[in-house]
This record gives sequence, C-alpha cells and structure tokens, in this order.
Amino acid sequence: MAHQRPEILFPLFSALTELPGIGPKTAGLLEKVEITRPRDMLFTLPAGGIDRRRRDTVLGAPLPGVVTVEVTVGAHVPPRARNRPYRVFVEDARTEFELVFFHARDDWLHKVLPAGQRRLVSGRAELFDGRAQMAHPDYILQPDEAGELPLFEPVYPLTQGVTQKAMHKAAAGAVALAPALPDWIDPHLKAQRDWPGWRAAVAAAHAPDTAADLAPEAPARQRLAYDELFVHQLTLALARARARKRPGRSTRGAGELAGKILQSLPFSPTGAQTRAVAEIQGDMAASHRMNRLLQGDVGSGKTLVALLAMLAAVEAGGQAALMAPTEILARQHMEGLAPLAAAAGVRLELLTGRDKGAERAAKLADLAEGRIDILAGTHALFQSDVAFRDLRLAIVDEQHRFGVRQRMDLSEKGQAADILVMTATPIPRSLALSHYGDMDLSVLDEKPPGRQPIDTALVSADRLDQVVERLRAAVAEGRQAYWVCPLVAESEATEATAAEARFEHLRAALGAGAVGLVHGQMPHARKDAAMADFVSGRTQVLVATTVIEVGVNVPQATIMVIEGAEGFGLAQLHQLRGRVGRGSGKSTCLLMYSGPLSESARARLAIMRETEDGFRIAEEDLRLRGAGDLLGVAQSGLPRFRIADLERQGELMATAQTDARRVLAEDPDLSSERGQAVRTALYLHEADRAIRMLSVG
Ligand code: ADP
Ligand code: MG
Repeated sequence: MAHQRPEILFPLFSALTELPGIGPKTAGLLEKVEITRPRDMLFTLPAGGIDRRRRDTVLGAPLPGVVTVEVTVGAHVPPRARNRPYRVFVEDARTEFELVFFHARDDWLHKVLPAGQRRLVSGRAELFDGRAQMAHPDYILQPDEAGELPLFEPVYPLTQGVTQKAMHKAAAGAVALAPALPDWIDPHLKAQRDWPGWRAAVAAAHAPDTAADLAPEAPARQRLAYDELFVHQLTLALARARARKRPGRSTRGAGELAGKILQSLPFSPTGAQTRAVAEIQGDMAASHRMNRLLQGDVGSGKTLVALLAMLAAVEAGGQAALMAPTEILARQHMEGLAPLAAAAGVRLELLTGRDKGAERAAKLADLAEGRIDILAGTHALFQSDVAFRDLRLAIVDEQHRFGVRQRMDLSEKGQAADILVMTATPIPRSLALSHYGDMDLSVLDEKPPGRQPIDTALVSADRLDQVVERLRAAVAEGRQAYWVCPLVAESEATEATAAEARFEHLRAALGAGAVGLVHGQMPHARKDAAMADFVSGRTQVLVATTVIEVGVNVPQATIMVIEGAEGFGLAQLHQLRGRVGRGSGKSTCLLMYSGPLSESARARLAIMRETEDGFRIAEEDLRLRGAGDLLGVAQSGLPRFRIADLERQGELMATAQTDARRVLAEDPDLSSERGQAVRTALYLHEADRAIRMLSVG
C-alpha cells in the first residue's frame, strides 16, 4: 500500500508521552504549541544556547551574563529579615563574590555548599555596587562532577509550565528514536554543501557545541531547513507535473488581432512585455496546460500583456476570461480594454455579482454560444452556471489574496483552459517560489519609458491645513489627486465614516464640485459614478479608502495624499503610491503621519522615501515583518515551516525547486531508490497533498 506511512517512521509518530519525562500534563501543555508527537519535538530546535565554558574568575566576565567558575565556599549569611535573601560568600581564583538565594532552606544550602569545600557553580551573575552576585546558580557541582556540565547548553523555545530541563530530556529522547533513513537529498548537493545525513543532522541540531551551530548557516540546520523546503517544493512540483500531464490544447493565434492593437497604441511594448507575451504564447501553443504567473510591479503594463494573450485565444476560435478581485477593478479592466477590443473587433463583456435576471441570462447565453469573446469580471465568473462555449485562457488578476491551495483546486476543476495569474505584489524571490512554485514565471522587470520618479515626502498631521492649501493650489493648476483615509482597525463602517468626514472637510475647502468620494460601504452605482467623475476629470480630488489600493489606473492623477500613513503596511503603501506616477506628469506622494512613531513605522516610512523599487520594498517588508505576515499566513496557504527561515535561508528555496522538479522529471512515480527515500521524506513532513497526488497517480 503505497500511501501508508512507512513503518520505520512509526516511533516518531507515537504518543508524546512515550518520551522520557513527558507525562499527560506536560503533553497537554505542549499540544498547545503543536508538539503532539516525538516527531514534532525533533523538529523543535533550540532557539539559543548558553555558553558554560569554565573561567578562572568572574572578574572581567561580561556581566550580566552566565559564568561558570570553580570556587571555595565561605561564610553563610542567613537573611536578617523576611524577604531578604540568604547569602553565601564564595571565592574564585581572584575575587570574592556572593551566591544569593531567596526562600531557600538552610539545611539544603549547607548540604550543597558546605563551607570550606570546592564547588563548581554556573549561573547568571550581575554586578551590584561593583560586586558580582549570582542568584540561584543553575548548577552547583562537586569538582569531580564537572563532566555533567554541558559546555554549551541548548535553550529551547519555552511553553508556559514546561521547564528547559524537561525540554532537554524530551528532545534527547526524540533524537534517540530517530531512525537512520536513506537519504532523499541529491548526493551531489549534499556533498557540495557538506551536509550531514538526516539522523546526524537532527542529533547535531539538538546538541550545539557553540553559538555558530545555532546559526541558520550551520550545516545541520541548513540541511533540516532544506528538507522542509524540498518537501514543499515537491508538493508544488507534483501539482505542476500533474497539471502539465493533463491534456491541454494547443492555442495559436495568427497574430493579426495583436497587430491591430499594437498599431492602435500610441506606444510600443517594452522589452519585458514582448518577452512575457512570447513566453505566454509559447505555453499556449504547446499541448500542455499553461500554469503561469505574470509578476510585474504596479504600472509595469500587465494589462496589455493580458490582452495580447487573450487575443491569441480568440484568434484560435476560443474565448478568454479575466477575473479581478474587486468590482472596481473588474470595471476598470473593462473600461481600459473596451477601446482596444473595439479596435481589434472582438466582443468584450463584463459579468459581476450585480448582473441579475434577464440581463444576466442574456449574457450567459451569449457566452455559451460563443458570441462573447472575452469576459471580464469578479469571481462571479466562476459560478457554476457560467458556461463558456470554448474557454481557452483564464486570467486571474491580483490574486495573491488566494492561497496556493485554492489556486490548485481551481485549476483542478477547470476545463482544459490555460491559466495565467497576474500579481502586482512584488514579493521576494524566496516567497514567490514558495507561493507560486508550481507555476512558471514571467516577470515584467522594466517600466514603460518616460515615467518620472515620484516625489515622496513625510508630513506631520499637524500640518493638515498646509497640505490642504497646497492641494488647493494644485487643483487650481488643473491637477488631480487621491486622498486616502487612514485604515481603521475596528471596521469598514468606521473607515467609511472617517472618509465621509474628510470628504466634507475637503469639499468645504476646495469647492463642492471638485471633490469625490469612494469607499466600500457605498452603493455600487454611487461608487461607479464617483470613479467615472474622477476618470473624466469632473472631480479633481478623490477621497477614498483602500478600495483603490490595487489596479486603479487614472494616469493623469499626479498627487497621492495618504493620511495615517504610519498605520499602513509597506506593501499597501507601495500599491497606493503606485496609483500615481502612471502618466508623463511629475507626481507627488505625501505621507501624513501622527507621532510618536513606533520604530517599525519609522522604518517603513523611511523606506518609502528612499525607493520606489517594489522588489526592494518587498525585501525590506520581509525583513521587518517576517514571511508569514507578508502574505498573511492564514490566507496565503504558505506552509508554516518549523525550521526553515525564509528571511535567512531563502536562497535554499530556489535549489529546492530545481531539485524537486528534476527528481520528478527523472522519476515521476518516485519508484527509484532515491524516489522511495523522497516518499519517506514526504511522510516525515506530512505532505498529505503530495502523498494523495502520488497515490492517485
Ligand atoms: P499594471 O496593471 O501592471 O499596474 P497597467 O497595465 O495598468 O499596469 O499599465 C499602466 C499604464 O501604463 C497604463 O496607462 C498603460 O496604458 C501604460 N502602458 C502600458 N504599457 C506601456 C508601454 N509599453 N509604454 C507606455 N505606456 C504603457
Ligand atoms: Mg493592473
């Protein structure tokens, strides 16, 4: 039975209480931090370590800090009052200091620290009035017991109610249960990196000799981190291999429609756009199914790439769908694409949740009979009664909000259509590989020419009046501006209220006709009208909540004011700022903040001032927030790695992807010797999805 856990792993998946020192109570506590079996304990590595190497004297030791010295025990001084400590004077090679105990029993102290005897003590010492004190030493040993003292003692992440000592014992127990496993890592890679085998790696990771052994670069840690990434990439590679195996269709357009479009444009595509279109059309022409990610910073021109791809589908006699995450975006795609579609003579329609009744029915009929060539819309497109005559290409825009899993599900239930996902979130490479590792990647790494840098300035909220004055002057010159209101944690409704208040304020200051308002709580028709007014220039200032965060494209708008900028994340600020600087005019972004700023808010705003480079911003964001947070662990579908640290071991991800894809190319069923070992790794890391895919074949 191929899909059962190999017997060799059974001990690691037994009850936690099998481990020494773990009773039902401790097991209960550990369960709360997802340590439920010896395996989990094995993958809970020390987070730090204590150096207990012996020194001659506390003199000159970096204090406060842990010191280990041999001493001669001197006088015992019991407390003179309750709540005072019991003190024991001791003398090392060069100086006298004190051991201090609270609530200790005299008889016990006399037993472990008999006056006149030599003892080895180890613990945290501090200076008081120039004199060292060690409160409650961790170890008090007789000189001949010195061997019991670890030179370097690992420190585990602690759970309330579970001691370090218990963790040490349990971890050692788990290591003892670890079987020798045939290696799943590519032997060349293993040799090149000088990585230990699996069992040696877990043993070493739990028994660091120095602080360097705890670093992400330590070979044992790297190897174990790599295992996690490799298993993750294998899951993605299996999904990719399966998707490619399923019959796709060769979709090839003659290129006439694309030619018409390109002629009607006032600009020519950038090199990056041309390259991306070629990659996409190559995939579409091939007989396997396309599963490709188009990544491009805001304003890099993804829409044109999408359109050219869709036209290929249409020319081949099929249809294309473009799905956006919000109504506003779907509408905007529609408006942007409509003139181009008209130039090419293809029929484009919009379908959203607002379509109801007879109108919707008519659209669905047109779609089913092939009278609609391209359908743009929200996730209303994927409702079960929406049937295409011949859907050949599905494009999902800005969909980093969906998880890996949902995307896999989607492509599994789709027809033989090619899938293109577009994202404007410039995420660091390690995360892109982790999140989209099952896809092929096209990157728009070049912006259309003629864009001017955006001037970004920080302004204190105290200077609101001055900002409004400047805005008045800009409006008088005919410029257009967005005014984004602060994020409100409580609810969208409060956010809307704040936006309405700002709207009234700016209307009073700038003239009622000049200012529009859009937020998530408004009825659809009013939202559309507000957007349309702004696009056409009837209003010059658009007060908005983050509903305009992604995709909104009004090239003539050149001012972005973000109120409460300190409350936004970096990615959001970058997206919002990306709403300006899209035309040829010089653009400005004002980040308004209220002090005092937290350290991380200060860092975020400083980065925004420093750079417009989305990838740089994404790297900084990863550094400031950590990987889970960046995509939002819950929604991202990003696995939570116990060991791998994407910030510091991210480079391993690319290797893991290459290797995972290669393994499957050479041995699709994982039946070779190494393939069998890889299967064991999948079970060890509970890659259920991968195991299911393998067992279904
Ligand atoms: P994205 O969706 O990647 O943020 P868009 O597709 O909305 O970017 O394009 C941003 C703006 O740049 C649009 O106004 C578009 O017409 C324009 N644009 C796209 N490609 C080019 C190009 N090659 N040269 C000049 N302008 C371009
Ligand atoms: Mg876009």
